[in-house]
Amino acid sequence: LVSRDFHPAASEVRVGEVVLGNGLAPVVMAGPCSIESEEQIVTAARLVKSAGAQILRGGAFKPRTGPHSFQGLGIEGLKYLRAAGNEVDMPVVTEVMRIGQLDAVCQYADLVQIGARNMQNFELLKEVGKLDRPILLKRGMSATLEEFLAAAEYILAEGNSQVVLCERGIRTFETATRNTLDLSIVPLVRELSHLPIVVDPSHATGKRSLVPVMAKSALVAGAHGLMIEVHPTPETALCDGAQSLTGEGFADLMDQIRRLLPVL
Ligand code: PEP
Ligand code: MN
Repeated sequence: LVSRDFHPAASEVRVGEVVLGNGLAPVVMAGPCSIESEEQIVTAARLVKSAGAQILRGGAFKPRTGPHSFQGLGIEGLKYLRAAGNEVDMPVVTEVMRIGQLDAVCQYADLVQIGARNMQNFELLKEVGKLDRPILLKRGMSATLEEFLAAAEYILAEGNSQVVLCERGIRTFETATRNTLDLSIVPLVRELSHLPIVVDPSHATGKRSLVPVMAKSALVAGAHGLMIEVHPTPETALCDGAQSLTGEGFADLMDQIRRLLPVL
């Protein structure tokens, strides 16, 4: 079902009023790794909106490596995210980690994110496959392209074809960057599948200084959009500060992207 053989025409996926797909302007999803307070997410929302992002991101249920790290604000965070999105008139995306959180996430989010660590949580994939809601499926950190597409297949097989794929870097022997951004799968996904694909250069590199150039490279490679972590004060971020752009850094990147668009 994910294959071009089955569905030759490229699919478009709608998130609120925003549409991702071939021939459309790239869609930028931006915001903090985690929702930390109402003030923080509202400030971030204003920053990313004024810079030109179309979708607001923020994590309320966080899949942290260790149990002592900030785990997210949960439902309270979802409410702040929705309020921030409404204030700046942007659809919002947030991660669901397990089936039990799905009702709450659907109550507040326009786009439901399945994180890298859950890419092969097949029960969760089947459950979001029953929704009439767009899904952002992130590539597992050790998943081959075949496994990534097979995970998307689980969602489509249940009837939900509103799936956006997200390349966010994979584990390799290289430790200089947080992950290794596998940009060549972007044109390959476009050959093999009709689903749109976006790139997350923040988790892929783990380093703020690398995010703008890899974001632009992703668009040159044919990505239908980007997911970028932006924090009003990255030095105080409870999660992923080192890879988060400041509002100013993000606005600068968006200017560069606008200059790049005519030649894409
Ligand atoms: C995220 O986007 O907040 C996240 C946890 O990313 P990933 O699942 O790609 O690690
Ligand atoms: Mn993060």
